[in-house]
Amino acid sequence: MELEFVKWLASQSGAAPPISLGIGDDAALVAPPPGRELVVTTDMLTDRVHFDLREHSAERIGYKALAVNLSDLAAMAAEPLAALVSINVPRNESATPLPRELYIGMRRLADQFSCPIAGGDTNVADGPLVVSVTALGSVETNRAWLRCAAEPEDRLLVTGALGGSRLGRHLDFTPRVNEARQLHANFEVHAAIDISDGLALDLSRLVEASGAGAIVDLDRIPVSPDAIKLAHQSGKSPVTHALGDGEDFELLFTAPKHVAAELCRLQPLGCRITDIGQITIDRLLQQRDASGQISPLERSGYQHGV
Ligand SMILES: [Mg+2]
Repeated sequence: MELEFVKWLASQSGAAPPISLGIGDDAALVAPPPGRELVVTTDMLTDRVHFDLREHSAERIGYKALAVNLSDLAAMAAEPLAALVSINVPRNESATPLPRELYIGMRRLADQFSCPIAGGDTNVADGPLVVSVTALGSVETNRAWLRCAAEPEDRLLVTGALGGSRLGRHLDFTPRVNEARQLHANFEVHAAIDISDGLALDLSRLVEASGAGAIVDLDRIPVSPDAIKLAHQSGKSPVTHALGDGEDFELLFTAPKHVAAELCRLQPLGCRITDIGQITIDRLLQQRDASGQISPLERSGYQHGV
């Protein structure tokens, strides 16, 4: 099956810049544009952990497998160049169209972001479906957004709305690649991360990397309609979902106060930008409620939205 699949894959993706040599040789050749450095990220998705093959179509799973990687590129302000895909196909699925369907879902997103699939590998083995994607991107040399670059007094900003992605958004989201590139080109952004494991946890990663702390204003957090829907079922508050659900794949970033004010006023992106708090010089992670009361912000654990 592998030969047949790789052959089919090769017929789907040709060699065009930045890929000077695509599928068919021992390895692909990829040339980053001049003046830019390569950004590389990889993410592996497993059946029943990140998706459920009994419920979700292979096309949606393929889409997600690439999308989570493009979200990581976006968090570095990188532009996608190419992707590599490795799949473990369960033995009982080896004669089905599953690999092609995964690829078709991936291709939908790859085309949207001009990110050709430059190679791949397929194994058939006992065990769950595993899809591993490695994405290559490029960013202007020394200009990547890093988690460690938050500065005291920076404002904390997020794109979009948070929480409740397990109702479906975790499979169908659009990675914030274009938004990140637009911000990167036009505004002073200091630190950034994408929200994969929940606002509270990913914020804690950002501030720890920066040797700083943060205060989040709970009533400013943009809560998604899905978080409200889920709150009716769970009995938790919508903001708890927004803080802890994860798999939002929105950007969390910091910027100087005047830049944050300008971003919130101009709203230059296709999605909303919201100022949700401030970076502090202490190393505490705190929340402030609507009455002004400050308390520790729990790094609420992430739950993958299946
Ligand atoms: Mg990430």
